[in-house]
Amino acid sequence: MVIEVDRLGKTFGDTEVLRGVSLSVAPGEFLAIVGPSGSGKSTLLYCMSGLEPATSGSVRILGTTLGTLSRGGLAELRRDHLGFVFQSYNLIPSLTARDNVALPARLARRGISGADIDRALAEVGLADRADARPSALSGGQQQRVAIARALALRPDVLFADEPTGALDTTAGEQVLDLIGKVVADGRSVVMVTHDLRAAARADRVLVLRDGVVHRELDHPDAAAIFTAMGD
Ligand code: ADP
Ligand code: MG
Repeated sequence: MVIEVDRLGKTFGDTEVLRGVSLSVAPGEFLAIVGPSGSGKSTLLYCMSGLEPATSGSVRILGTTLGTLSRGGLAELRRDHLGFVFQSYNLIPSLTARDNVALPARLARRGISGADIDRALAEVGLADRADARPSALSGGQQQRVAIARALALRPDVLFADEPTGALDTTAGEQVLDLIGKVVADGRSVVMVTHDLRAAARADRVLVLRDGVVHRELDHPDAAAIFTAMGD
């Protein structure tokens, strides 16, 4: 397994947001996590990817338990193996698309070649916009730059938190097609979404409710996810 989450709990103050979540993600698997707003989807994704420490339970990525790593070790694991895409793109406004894609590698003092950056931008269909700043790009194009940034260091797992949440249908479909290509390429994807049609593209869908896995569905269609969320 690429990811193994065992009885993960997460508490903020006296609010118990996650109450014993267990799940695993296989190599090349596309897992979607759905659930009502406030059900703990983002918190789960952040704990799974080492952005937030767990309060109880454990998260193992590629055999390493996150809680046993030093800050530096965790940063290294994230940099070498994980990519992250957010609803709000999180690009640096003053940097071109090319420099945004290069930034994580440069911050980590890890070499990234011009060819690697060009390849990442070409993969998301933006080879011709490498010199554009985010303000000159549409929302969909900005999200594709964010995906190129996440893929530039060839992660084993791509995490995406509502990656289509700010996009219109067409731009959202393009982003989902790209995520599909990441999966076809043999990497794992964990995507949080409240778009049931987006979730229906996944191999497996977890319905989160009140901080626990309420249902787990294998290759469901949007209607089956909708039903599982309601019952
Ligand atoms: P979702 O992504 O499903 O909408 P979240 O994981 O963002 O849900 O939030 C779940 C609950 O945890 C919410 O009640 C939210 O207010 C709370 N929460 C999330 N992050 C924090 C934080 N950093 N501090 C305090 N409470 C938080
Ligand atoms: Mg969220």
